[in-house]
Amino acid sequence: MQNENIFICENIGVADNGNLSFAGQDTVMLAKKYGTPLYLMDEDRIRKICRTYIGAVKKAFGDNGKVMYASKASSFKRIYEIMLEEGMNIDVVSCGEIYTAYSAGYPLSNAYFHSNNKTDEDIAFAMDKGVGYFVVDNEEELYAIDTEARKRGIKQSILLRITPGIDPHTFEAVATGKVDSKFGSAIETGQAEQMVEIALSLEGIELSGFHCHVGSQVFDSDVFLRSADVMLDFILDIKNKFGYVAKQLDLGGGFGVRYLASDPVYSLEDVISEIGDFVNKKVAELGIELPIIGFEPGRSIVADAGMTLYSVGTVKKIPEFINYVSVDGGMTDNIRYALYGAAYTLTLANKATENHNMLCSVVGRCCESGDIIQENVYMPDSVTRGDYLACMTTGAYHYSMASNYNRIGRPPIVMLREGTSYLAVRRETVENLISLDI
Ligand SMILES: *Cc1c(COP(=O)(O)O)cnc(C)c1O
Repeated sequence: MQNENIFICENIGVADNGNLSFAGQDTVMLAKKYGTPLYLMDEDRIRKICRTYIGAVKKAFGDNGKVMYASKASSFKRIYEIMLEEGMNIDVVSCGEIYTAYSAGYPLSNAYFHSNNKTDEDIAFAMDKGVGYFVVDNEEELYAIDTEARKRGIKQSILLRITPGIDPHTFEAVATGKVDSKFGSAIETGQAEQMVEIALSLEGIELSGFHCHVGSQVFDSDVFLRSADVMLDFILDIKNKFGYVAKQLDLGGGFGVRYLASDPVYSLEDVISEIGDFVNKKVAELGIELPIIGFEPGRSIVADAGMTLYSVGTVKKIPEFINYVSVDGGMTDNIRYALYGAAYTLTLANKATENHNMLCSVVGRCCESGDIIQENVYMPDSVTRGDYLACMTTGAYHYSMASNYNRIGRPPIVMLREGTSYLAVRRETVENLISLDI
């Protein structure tokens, strides 16, 4: 089995010497220079995708289009600097993300604070740092935010997170828009309307509009059209009941990315243009003004800008059962297979052109049987200790989900820009690991 299936994104190639290349750079050289395991991030690709989104929403909605990077996908100082330079708004979900953005000099008035359970400390911290918008999940939170805002003599701008009752037909673990979701307040149960009534009555709250986010890894534009349809009807309904006109409608993120060659290819421009046509037409039909239309992609901004490089250690062949290829990372830098069986494309960076003919499981170094990067993949049967193994599409939900299980330090992040490389996050050392121990 020749592995032509590795070219799932335009930034993946094979160099003249047969090594795997990423963003035009030799991955074997990068592994040798920075050590493994290693996260690579193709900065040129991140910037290109930001520009694609901003261009597409401008075309679809004029000055009423807005794009926020959902920074939980990958949060570190440098990424917020890039978002600032590219003119992106951001989503944050914790004090840690707020503080990282703040430390990078990102103006938090452009930030949207999500989470289904903001603590009183979170709320106070976010207000003290001047976060522009809170996306409010539930009634309790509305009162808590109002209390903090009144204490400070301010009116906090908010969006209400509404559950439109849409099933995005994605993995159960990443579906968030159904009535029984832990996120948001449902239209169907009347709780959404009740939230609006309360929000409008609170002195410390400035209701700016509504938000929904129905799931992740969505490839079907129909999902966005259906949620826009429900949300615009809701806006009209609220206008009729309360005389309140929403200024913003945030349609969430969730745009799919390719992990495998068999995943669909689509154009972000086309999908956003389709949503634009639908929303503009529907708004005209309902006789309401076009609100600011927001999108908050996370994964699709950074996922295929990322690649993880490992060194191969033990290769264990159990005759007539299974072959294991062990790498020097694992669930500590990539939890997604263990968490929900996520699929990946893998290859050997230094043997990318060799025949990938040996069926195996690629496993990590952690003391846990579930510490698996991928089962039933093919590697060259010459695979041996010291080879470099590349895992594609690891820019989203990898570094941000990394842990220190087994007291393993997290890998560094190396940015690739215009043919050069630089460190954005250092490798976590054993000294770092004991730094909080008293
Ligand atoms: C996670 C999340 C996003 C981003 O989702 P992606 O699938 O990474 O694009 C956007 N909005 C909200 C509210 C989220 O929770």
